[in-house]
Amino acid sequence: SSALVWFRRDLRSFDHAALYHALRAADRVYCAFVFDTEILDALPGRCDRRVDFIHAAVVELDAALRQLAQQAGAAGGGLVVRRGRADEEIPRLASELGVAMVFANRDYEPAAIARDGRVSAALAQAGIGFADLKDQVIFERNEVLTQTGQPYSVFTPYSKAWLKQLDDFQVRAYPVEKYAAALAAPPVDSGVPTLADIGFSASDSDELRLPTGMRGGRSLFEDFRGRMGRYQRARDFPAVKGVSYLSAHLRFGTVSIRELAGHAWREGGAGAETWLKELIWRDFYQMILWHRPDVVDHAFRPEYEAIRWDDAPALFDAWRQARTGYPLVDAAMRQLSSSGYMHNRLRMVTASFLTKDLGVDWRLGERHFAELLLDYDLAANNGGWQWAASTGCDAQPWFRIFNPVTQSEKFDPEGKFIRRYLPELARVPDKFIHAPWKMGGVDQSVAGVRIGVDYPAPVVDHAEARERTLARFGMLARE
Ligand code: FAD
Repeated sequence: SSALVWFRRDLRSFDHAALYHALRAADRVYCAFVFDTEILDALPGRCDRRVDFIHAAVVELDAALRQLAQQAGAAGGGLVVRRGRADEEIPRLASELGVAMVFANRDYEPAAIARDGRVSAALAQAGIGFADLKDQVIFERNEVLTQTGQPYSVFTPYSKAWLKQLDDFQVRAYPVEKYAAALAAPPVDSGVPTLADIGFSASDSDELRLPTGMRGGRSLFEDFRGRMGRYQRARDFPAVKGVSYLSAHLRFGTVSIRELAGHAWREGGAGAETWLKELIWRDFYQMILWHRPDVVDHAFRPEYEAIRWDDAPALFDAWRQARTGYPLVDAAMRQLSSSGYMHNRLRMVTASFLTKDLGVDWRLGERHFAELLLDYDLAANNGGWQWAASTGCDAQPWFRIFNPVTQSEKFDPEGKFIRRYLPELARVPDKFIHAPWKMGGVDQSVAGVRIGVDYPAPVVDHAEARERTLARFGMLARE
């Protein structure tokens, strides 16, 4: 019999649940990827770093599948690549190929669940089966529950239960290569379309120094392995190379979560354990999204739906355009727009600043991040924003409000990160770099920057903003 593997956010040819199960189940296995117009048409522009990243990964995957087949002595391999609505293309392709089954790895986003439901129904009508498998997380859906059988909403007990359930089996790689002889050649081999063929032009992603595809994911992980032991100490300082930079690779599945989690688990020690916790957060938010798809546009805690955020388009624009006058916030927002990445500490600081200093609804900030982040992931982004806005599960308590100046002093003490992204502040002395508005006229002229002219004065006063936020949330607590 024959089968089709539909690749989505799992763009790799090793340790792949759907590919493995298809190869075991059928003696002719086709592989496909669809540039889904439902997703592409909704993107803000026709030039998008994520489309570049995916395109590069698909080109590499096509070649890797061919090589895999060749090594197994088969003539097949290669991807069938289509452009169109996935919920039409996949059933059509499955019928054309005459396969008995379609295999894919599970996706927990509400829109993906709905799409997979449509695909599965269309396939069923044609007498074709659809199997979806766990692949992108270690534990999913109802696999980690409280003692009373409920999903967790607090991270620490969840992570303890998660760790307790972890064993060798959960992190064992699927030995795809053993069964690769079943890989079939695409019937019409037209290769991978170019970016232009799918209606896009190249972004600046070449300049980002983010290596793409499986090879890129591997090189980043190799580099990080040597630094993993220092992760716990270095991860909070954006000017330091302390984190893994693997998020986009985890997002698109060019690395295997089993390999990464398994490595950290076996490695042990404070650095690896702390990093493993971050991977557990990733599972946690995927699990939350699956149980509570309403969090996409509602507060996790319903009582917080009553919060009245300010309608403040000018402040929102200042935040988006890195003109808040708070250097750490502005440097972070420039990092986001210039690279599609933002350091985790800064995601917390800028999200807190938007919601608690500017009083703007977290949903607006979340959408802005969704447009720009290369690693944009609905579950993690939503979780992060609701954490910062205090509306989420296990969120930052509402009365704990980051002070953007103290955060800056603590996590970018010499202003190295700030100066990298805000060259206009390059000559501001260390003692003013976190709050340059405190410079007098003489200091400003020595530093070569006029506050309010070359660099903005603060758009809000933090102490006043803090009081407003306490009142905003406090009102709710009293109701
Ligand atoms: P590392 O520190 O090396 O961590 C390794 C991996 O663990 C990450 O690649 C990621 O997959 C996972 N991870 C780490 N922290 C978290 C977390 N808090 N929640 C879930 N997974 C985590 N992460 C995304 O992948 N996509 C997003 O869209 C996203 N949006 C965020 C928005 C806000 C407001 C906040 C506060 C956090 C967000 N995060 C998001 C989580 C985190 O900031 C990034 O995963 C991290 O900065 C990516 O860099 P890294 O790969 O070097 O991380």
